Amino acid sequence: MTLEELDKKYGLQTYNRNYINFVRGEGSTLFAENGDNYIDFASGIAVNSVGHNNPTLVKAIQEQVAKIIHISNLQVIEPQAKLAEQIATLANYDGAIFFANSGAEANEGAIKIARKYGETRFEKKRYKVITLAHSFHGRTITTVKATGQDSFHTPNFSPYPAGFSYVDGLESVYDNIDDETVAVMIELVQGEGGVQPFDKSEIQKLANFLKEQDVLLIVDEVQTGIYRTGKMLASNMYEISPDIITMAKGLGGGVPIGAVMTKHRDVLVAGDHGSTFGGNYLSTRAGLAVLEVLSGLYESGKLTETLAYFTVRLKEMATKYPNLFTQEVGLGAMRGLRAKDNETMKSVISKSMEHRLVILPAGKNTVRFLPALTITNSEIDEGFRRFEEAISSI
Ligand SMILES: *Cc1c(COP(=O)(O)O)cnc(C)c1O
Repeated sequence: MTLEELDKKYGLQTYNRNYINFVRGEGSTLFAENGDNYIDFASGIAVNSVGHNNPTLVKAIQEQVAKIIHISNLQVIEPQAKLAEQIATLANYDGAIFFANSGAEANEGAIKIARKYGETRFEKKRYKVITLAHSFHGRTITTVKATGQDSFHTPNFSPYPAGFSYVDGLESVYDNIDDETVAVMIELVQGEGGVQPFDKSEIQKLANFLKEQDVLLIVDEVQTGIYRTGKMLASNMYEISPDIITMAKGLGGGVPIGAVMTKHRDVLVAGDHGSTFGGNYLSTRAGLAVLEVLSGLYESGKLTETLAYFTVRLKEMATKYPNLFTQEVGLGAMRGLRAKDNETMKSVISKSMEHRLVILPAGKNTVRFLPALTITNSEIDEGFRRFEEAISSI
């Protein structure tokens, strides 16, 4: 059987995938089985934050797996404790962290913290969580329900948990809070929804208002976190200090990990929450290596330079091809070109793939760019050369 036949016969077909067989990666270049090389502007949907085959990450993982991969959370785990310290320190956040295995699972943890806060801190129980239209919070039954896109709430998976509602834009949050609302959960740059950043002063205004009302602010930084927007967290960029922050994608550099961090350290107690794999030696050692690489790039100013260069090149594309794109959107290394329509987005992405450049869709009409934060200027140039080659035929 070919690889495609094998996958189609034995894999549940939940993805529209292509069948290029990538066998190796180096930095922001991927190599297919047939020897073709591809420039990677997707980094596995913001996961390979330090690129492929990063020496620091590879060495850390190799050394760790030869010692201990996993023991249970009933023992203390050295890299887990150190990673929690690193995250809180780099994010300049006075809080404590629970480790999970994915973004959805981190968000589940955030919702549990909020729900218990709402149950135990008020005379009248608070349990409702407000999220935003076009948001994305995950694929578990609860996080799908928290996702503010109707297409996700198919009756196929119903009934969903109660207590979630969506509002159109930040301004509508205010009117929709009632005495049963415990939390508002938002992304600062909506990723899957179309790479749409919110206005900093509007976010700060909302954060202040929620604090006054004792309604928790949960910021889903699963995609924006870990230097993706140019600082450790987008919350640092927006200069807010949310009650709860979730992270995942870029944190392990490809090793599955999720994290929920909160200043309300005493809400959850032993027995309230847990995970078999969450925070094990392998994933947290990987997280430490990723943060070592990225905090180094950030502190040296190199990250800012890379993001500025990527931005310049991307803006060029928006101006040069007004026939295809209406605007350039996003922040840091979380970028998009808003295509004229869905058809244009699809053909830009498939033509780019034919020209050996990996990019992604977001929302209905956004061509999305999520390069590794270690990408070099020459990889950026080569990627955009292929991009122009690809779109010139549209
Ligand atoms: C990807 C993503 C998730 C889901 O993460 P998984 O690891 O796929 O569960 C949740 N929230 C946001 C903002 C995301 O981008």
